[in-house]
Amino acid sequence: MTVGARAWPAGHGRVVITGGAGFLGSHLCDRLVERGHEVICVDNCVTGSTANVEHLIGHSKFSFLRHDVSRPLSVDGAVDAILHFASPASPRDYLELPIQTLKVGSLGTHNCLGLAKAKDARFLLASTSEVYGDPQVHPQTESYWGHVNPIGPRGVYDEAKRFAEAITMAYHRAHGVDVRIVRIFNTYGNRMRPSDGRVVSNFLVQAVQGKPLTVYGDGSQTRSFCHVDDEVAGILALLESDHVGPVNIGNPTEFTVSELAEIIIEITGSSSEVIHEPLPVDDPTQRRPDISLARSVLGWEPRIPIREGLARTVSYLEAEVNRRER
Ligand code: NAD
Ligand code: UDP
Repeated sequence: MTVGARAWPAGHGRVVITGGAGFLGSHLCDRLVERGHEVICVDNCVTGSTANVEHLIGHSKFSFLRHDVSRPLSVDGAVDAILHFASPASPRDYLELPIQTLKVGSLGTHNCLGLAKAKDARFLLASTSEVYGDPQVHPQTESYWGHVNPIGPRGVYDEAKRFAEAITMAYHRAHGVDVRIVRIFNTYGNRMRPSDGRVVSNFLVQAVQGKPLTVYGDGSQTRSFCHVDDEVAGILALLESDHVGPVNIGNPTEFTVSELAEIIIEITGSSSEVIHEPLPVDDPTQRRPDISLARSVLGWEPRIPIREGLARTVSYLEAEVNRRER
């Protein structure tokens, strides 16, 4: 689906990023400030940290607003775009914060869409591959409606994001808000929290500490891992395009979780062993994005192979673990 092109203010826009102190949001803050935009980072730091944006504090094009976007949000002056990234994102986080996750996906998205409507701003929603649930179509194309358990523990995240997509399209159709929806697949890189419980951070930290790598289930479930630099390039390409989406942005190279463990042991030179722990409830069996749409409408595809991306990430996580232990 495309929309009539609304002029995008290259290099001089005013952009609100919710969740801007998180992993992905902080990289978006960096790239947009580098491109000359003014960035207003809004975050309540429930899973993120101002440490992720402290290098931007004091920059004339950057400001930080501590706010829970599940409560009404107001911003003075003109706004050209709102990037709505606020939400717990790792399974460990959203299982610990089920109500907050549902609220930020529903009330938070509603508040941000209201702001976008009032400011006549472009609105980009950070959606997720989790809208496909435990998919029965493989690889996942944007036309697939998904296979989600609404009442299982993961439902708090999956259904919040599905509602967020639905209300985004409703504001687009009913109020003419200029929207974009990106479906983000597993992304890794610098500024992931070492303790976020995601597979890449767990395995890298376990490997460098010589602890056993905890493979859940038999390790035959698959994921496709995208380096954050590639992911952010894809998100910004969508923001600047005239395509509403949803568009899958992720790396289509698929690995089993056991293969990922082997690669991480290899690149870290670790002597860690692999142990097996129970598979979480409703853990998706297979996940790989079909990125034909991103390739054709955005001219985007990932460039960073997994070994290179993991090598870039391991030193960050190691330093971060040491810093937190001091
Ligand atoms: P993250 O936890 O590092 O960042 C989320 C940020 O949102 C945090 O800084 C947190 O404090 C903030 N936040 C949460 N609730 C808030 C609220 N009510 N008000 C204000 N701020 C709030 O996670 P991330 O990996 O950077 O994910 C960012 C977005 O991308 C999320 O919306 C997530 O669903 C989506 N996403 C991420 C991935 C991934 O692999 N990282 C995959 C799919 C989708
Ligand atoms: N996983 C694992 N060991 C860990 C953490 C995760 O085997 O220490 C598995 C998890 O069960 C899932 C996959 O790795 O199959 C990806 O998990 P993650 O939490 O990173 O994200 P998800 O894709 O499930 O949202």
